[in-house]
Amino acid sequence: MTDRASTQTMHAASPASFAIHRRADPMAVADRSKLLADPGFGRVFTDHMAMIRYTEGKGWHSAEITARKPLMLDPAAAVLHYAQEIFEGLKAYRLEDGRMVMFRPGANARRFQQSARRLAMPELPVELFTRSIHELVDVDRAWFPSVEGGSLYIRPFMFASEAFLGVRPATEYLYLVILSPVGGYFKAGSPAVSIWVSQDYTRASPGGTGAAKCGGNYASSLVPIAEATKHGCDQVVFLDAAEHKWLEELGGMNVFLVFNDGTLQTPPLTGTILPGITRESIMTLARAEGLTVREQPYSLDQWRADAESGRLTEAFACGTAAVVTPIGRVASPQGEFKIGAGGPGQITSSLKQKLVDIQRGKALDPHGWVYTID
Ligand SMILES: *Cc1c(COP(=O)(O)O)cnc(C)c1O
Repeated sequence: MTDRASTQTMHAASPASFAIHRRADPMAVADRSKLLADPGFGRVFTDHMAMIRYTEGKGWHSAEITARKPLMLDPAAAVLHYAQEIFEGLKAYRLEDGRMVMFRPGANARRFQQSARRLAMPELPVELFTRSIHELVDVDRAWFPSVEGGSLYIRPFMFASEAFLGVRPATEYLYLVILSPVGGYFKAGSPAVSIWVSQDYTRASPGGTGAAKCGGNYASSLVPIAEATKHGCDQVVFLDAAEHKWLEELGGMNVFLVFNDGTLQTPPLTGTILPGITRESIMTLARAEGLTVREQPYSLDQWRADAESGRLTEAFACGTAAVVTPIGRVASPQGEFKIGAGGPGQITSSLKQKLVDIQRGKALDPHGWVYTID
């Protein structure tokens, strides 16, 4: 599957051949402005989308930017039955001088290829992934939100569109990109989140799809998230499936611990954890500051003990959507414990600021992470 996909010829959808079909009926400026003043998260979408088709034997073809509109799908489309679907999430920012930039799109492109391999799907070339987003953001740049701290959330995704009920990798796929102007991810005024330790559910098991960004992982996290909400928590944290002891990650964010000796720790990527680009960026920034970052297993028991003894001073979750979010309280049926003063800690805040400043062009970009659209 992988070999077949990667040896397809690319001229059918070379970057130069992205057809741009601007819609004749874009949203009226006044209506758009109203939406952009308070977009929330994932509720507002722009006028256009990117689309590329894949057909076995032909490769990637028919690349276009077109009006965002409902898709026509055969009821037998494989994704509706066997969930061959993967996605990505990244953001575009507008700099003070008006230029639009993206944060590490190449890293998302490569992770999209890794997810595709795990789900037996064809790999989209990195250049096509990046180009599709570049062209779309350029066409819909008027949709950048006016709200303070806003960004354009970019959602590339791909699914099996072939009408076929047999169990095997599909021979036809659709790759799409949609854009959503967003404000903050968590409700305003909550400086730190509370998290619930899932007892009955795990997110990923060894050999499963935990390291792939696929919709199925999220479907199975909804019940545990609802359980967290029922217990008055904002998010759920999953333990490992084998021993139910080791900290893994939140439903859609990686987790870091900060200790009173100034060191950081995050669970290692053993195949059950999603390799977050924010996670990797935070490790790089922390190490550049001279901080020690360990990628080592950390147990829930240790977490409680360290929080109570004061050895653990801060904890935070990180991911593209919410960037860096302090964890203030951890609850489970065995009781709950507070981390530090229950609010954002100093190292957490400083790392977040460093990352956000690079993303928004307010600080130097020594690692070459910022991709300029124009
Ligand atoms: C996307 C995702 C993350 C965060 O990844 P980023 O690249 O930092 O956005 C973490 N965990 C899960 C399960 C995810 O799906």
